Amino acid sequence: MSLLEIKNAHLKLDDKNILNGVSLSVNKGEVHAIMGPNGSGKSTLSYMLAGRDGYELEEGEILLDGISLSEMEADERARLGLFLAFQYPVELPGVGGMSFLREAVNSRRKFLGEEELDHLAFVKEARKEASKMYVKDEMLKRAVNVGFSGGEKKRFEILQMAMLKPTVSILDETDSGLDVDALKIVSDGVNAQRNNDNAIVVITHYQRLLDYIIPDFVHILSDGVIIKSGGPELALEVEKNGYSGLINAASVSYTHLTLPTKRIV
Ligand code: ADP
Ligand code: MG
Repeated sequence: MSLLEIKNAHLKLDDKNILNGVSLSVNKGEVHAIMGPNGSGKSTLSYMLAGRDGYELEEGEILLDGISLSEMEADERARLGLFLAFQYPVELPGVGGMSFLREAVNSRRKFLGEEELDHLAFVKEARKEASKMYVKDEMLKRAVNVGFSGGEKKRFEILQMAMLKPTVSILDETDSGLDVDALKIVSDGVNAQRNNDNAIVVITHYQRLLDYIIPDFVHILSDGVIIKSGGPELALEVEKNGYSGLINAASVSYTHLTLPTKRIV
């Protein structure tokens, strides 16, 4: 059984079809990359998985370790082990970084029937993980993301991932706005979390990230459907020829097959 199973996901926003039948199976131990041009539905897919209000499926199903997520609120999904690193991390004025991490981690531990970590043990663990992400103590005392630079926000997202140890992580454009040094820190942080019991879905516009986080599978999303899947070489093809070549080739084959989920405009 797949760890994450997306079956024929359809979703509308403001009466506009955004996801038009996305299907994807992600097994334990795998890293999948979802690439696609701007506006192809990548962030919508990540919000839908995380359970954001207003992003309910019109048709289709999502399963985490065989459990249907469709009726679950975002916080339940998070406790169950789903994690989303936002493309645009949200500022939380008044919520200190350390308290935020402790709340999140203890809430998940409680759900798993584990004891809450005591304060000192938690702080020690958080500082250790924070230093790996070059997140300073001073940053942990500040309100989450308030006044953080773009790179700091992304590093704090991966720190959350390291602390929560999710079963499925979805990283939405975690590379955007990062310089090469920050990209290396973030990628090392993500790679350190790879193991045989979890899975990671990286969403990215560019191939560059995939030089650092080497995926097992690459999928191309266009107009709310996966038009092609392959290995890391598919990302190189995108880098070389852009998305347009792949999308044109796909619409030709879709025209011949006349798949019902794809609208030909
Ligand atoms: P990506 O992350 O691949 O760039 P998005 O998922 O952000 O794409 O957006 C996919 C499409 O959905 C775009 O055409 C965008 O304009 C549209 N969209 C996003 N949010 C809304 C919304 N709240 N209402 C209507 N359309 C939306
Ligand atoms: Mg996006």
